[in-house]
Amino acid sequence: MANRQVPFFEYPRLWSDDREDFLRIIDEVSSTGGFILQKAVSDFESELANYAGVNYSVGVGNATDGMEIFLEAIGIKPGDEIIISSHTMLATASAIKVAGGIPIPVDIKSDDNLISISAIEEAITENTVGIMPTQLNGRVCDMDSIEAIAQKNGLFIVEDAAQALGSKYKGQHAGTFGLASDISFFPAKVLGCLGDAGGVLVNDKDLYHQIYQIHDHGRDVDGEVKRWGRNSRLDNIQAAILSFKLKTYDKVITRRREVAQIYQDRLEHLNELTLPAAPSAEGDNFDTYQNYELQADNRNNLQAFLRENDIGTLIQWGGTAIHQFVDLGFNQKCPNTDKFFERCIMLPMNVFISDDDVHFVCDKVEEFYRN
Ligand SMILES: *Cc1c(COP(=O)(O)O)cnc(C)c1O
Repeated sequence: MANRQVPFFEYPRLWSDDREDFLRIIDEVSSTGGFILQKAVSDFESELANYAGVNYSVGVGNATDGMEIFLEAIGIKPGDEIIISSHTMLATASAIKVAGGIPIPVDIKSDDNLISISAIEEAITENTVGIMPTQLNGRVCDMDSIEAIAQKNGLFIVEDAAQALGSKYKGQHAGTFGLASDISFFPAKVLGCLGDAGGVLVNDKDLYHQIYQIHDHGRDVDGEVKRWGRNSRLDNIQAAILSFKLKTYDKVITRRREVAQIYQDRLEHLNELTLPAAPSAEGDNFDTYQNYELQADNRNNLQAFLRENDIGTLIQWGGTAIHQFVDLGFNQKCPNTDKFFERCIMLPMNVFISDDDVHFVCDKVEEFYRN
């Protein structure tokens, strides 16, 4: 028997597991001749908005475009500072930069590795206009505290919810706490499509129209040009594929939480590891486990050992936090984040792996620390 292999993520299975349905959907959409801004897109936009519990959503080319577009729609000005976590994708920072603002990365908290509330407070200056927390790894930040700081200092909140569709805080969905948010449908995201795609969630009607206009050459839903815009549209084939996958999305979340619980049960006894919150943990959060990111002693050797055993792992963001990109001009001090990035690693977490695969990964992690 061939040795078991557990790749970090099997991209070909995104296609092969649903091939028959995808072929039918591609045929159906293409046969109508409606490829851009047709019914499949508007249907998916309302399904997505309904799912998350917001008034509107706009399908865009990718989540990064989504962030740039909603920041432009809000109207940030040169010199405006927006506070973000240093543990996020560079896209969170670059979207602020492209929209004309200044991204200010701050430290993470050591309990959940999400943006630190005290670090936000310390970073506020007279130029701060907003806070953009990242709902990382399918977990929502402590939004009560962030809302309190925002209110006290007259700041807006927007969310990078690229990783967090379906995650909740006190029963409220990620992406619905601020003025607007982005969701990513990149293939490896929890709701992944067959290419690049993203969605913006928004409640306010006027802001929705601004976002809509910017994503389609300045044209509003009625086709009238109202302002300068660009082209960043979700296409109909991807929208129809996303509609199809959204129907069974809650099953995907359930499965990811099962996998996380197996990791929890099998690995919690290892003192060398610091695990993420368990799905069974009491509290305000309902997590969807976009990633299973933990901290490990002797991380690099653990990763090498798992690789020798055909187990794929990944260090998030290639191992570099935002404030560590000194060539981009960052000079902030984020000691918790520095420590975290020496120990962080992500184990396989997706719907393609079996319980046996997860147990195999755990066996090997245990073996590494026993020897
Ligand atoms: C994936 C991701 C993005 C970017 O999403 P795209 O759709 O690839 O633009 C932004 N922020 C975070 C936190 C992400 O994980």
